[in-house]
Amino acid sequence: MMKATEVIENLKQRFPGEPEYIQAVSQVLATIEDEYNLHPDFEAANLIERLCIPDRILQFRVTWTDDAGNVRTNMGYRIQHNNAIGPYKGGLRYHQSVNLSILKFLAFEQTFKNSLTTLPMGGAKGGSDFSPRGKSEGEVMRFCQAFMNELYRHIGPDEDVPAGDIGVGGREVGYLFGQYKKLTHQFQGVLTGKGTSFGGSLIRPEATGYGVVYFLESMLATRNIALAGKKVLISGSGNVAQYAARKCIELGAKVLTLSDSDGYIYDPDGIDAEKFEYVMELKNIFRGRIREYAEQYPSAQYHEYERPWREVADIALPCATQNEIDGDDAAALVANGVVAVAEGANMPSTPEAVKVFQDAKLLYAPGKASNAGGVSVSGLEMTQNSERLSWTAKEVDDYLKRIMNDIHENCIRYGTEPDGYINYVKGANVAGFMKVAKAMMSQGIV
Ligand code: NDP
Repeated sequence: MMKATEVIENLKQRFPGEPEYIQAVSQVLATIEDEYNLHPDFEAANLIERLCIPDRILQFRVTWTDDAGNVRTNMGYRIQHNNAIGPYKGGLRYHQSVNLSILKFLAFEQTFKNSLTTLPMGGAKGGSDFSPRGKSEGEVMRFCQAFMNELYRHIGPDEDVPAGDIGVGGREVGYLFGQYKKLTHQFQGVLTGKGTSFGGSLIRPEATGYGVVYFLESMLATRNIALAGKKVLISGSGNVAQYAARKCIELGAKVLTLSDSDGYIYDPDGIDAEKFEYVMELKNIFRGRIREYAEQYPSAQYHEYERPWREVADIALPCATQNEIDGDDAAALVANGVVAVAEGANMPSTPEAVKVFQDAKLLYAPGKASNAGGVSVSGLEMTQNSERLSWTAKEVDDYLKRIMNDIHENCIRYGTEPDGYINYVKGANVAGFMKVAKAMMSQGIV
């Protein structure tokens, strides 16, 4: 019989100094233990260790030259976690905080998330401790090329298909794809999130943020609550935050906050469609800071080095990074009347925060369920590349809605507790786990 605590102790000893990885594994194991113990054959195949430890970890030095002519080095990584149900799939993160622990947690989570999407994708993650912030276009391009010089050996449309994440958007994916093509002479669907003129899918940029809001609507519907008119706190101002905000605005909700790693803005009048267009230009064209919003719209306040979770609202959508809501933040959200939290980021709530949400019986969705829209449309991009066809925006958006709805149904199926409360964490983990586990059992000890 699996004892989650023993497995976790063992992993802690073997992989010391990897707190995010241990945090993610602990949360999943605690919720799947009962289901796992119903299948003695899983135990005989030591399935749990084989699922927690990545298939493969690639680490490499990335050397590039900055504009001043200095030769710089960064670390590059790719974690190929599990390919039981499809080719490895997961984003690349470029941020100075990147290390093995963070990428291992992300690759582990990705495996269950991809399983939940119903599409055939395994789990992976990669990236570098290089941060595009403050770098010139030429520096970003040269870094991406140097990164791909090493990575290209390990990826392929049926092997491993990276995409974007923090610090890797359409610009970086374009440079990575260009270098892959230069090295291999192959035009292949080897990355997703590509530009639409070279195989990218419509709605891929929007998919994660839109998917979060579609999932949120499904959660609210279980309690007959409408999104229109609700006040929403959003953190981050990157890809996920932007499109979560756009969809909320489109559906009549009032978005009060956005943030970046330097602070957050609070606009009591709400960020309307016109102000939102300003944010899109500020972040995506001028690569500016969210502080500038408060200079543009004086009714808004800028709170330096703070997070938005103490403001009064109905809904919170954390869309920046891991562990950005701690137990005290969660208690403040509950005290201020928040009814739903849907995670756009991966693991933004600490274990203490998750407990606060669940004890208060909040509608609470973990990222692996609510932010799965991004990788889902990446999966659809792979399909379109294989077909050599491009679907319309409506076709992709309808498919995305269907997938988010299916994930929600699966969470209800596996996560409904005796008192009727839907434990989305348990639902998502058990549903994601069972599919991967069954595939692994069928494929033998490999
Ligand atoms: P972006 O790089 O586009 O945006 C990230 C945003 O979060 C920026 O506003 C950034 O601010 C802020 N941020 C990053 N790190 C920190 C930090 N340590 N503290 C405070 N703020 C921070 O990334 P994405 O929007 O793509 O990703 C955001 C989250 O969503 C991540 O957790 C990612 O893993 C997750 N996600 C992304 C998907 C996608 O399709 N892109 C899919 C599923 C999940 P600053 O500019 O100051 O760095």
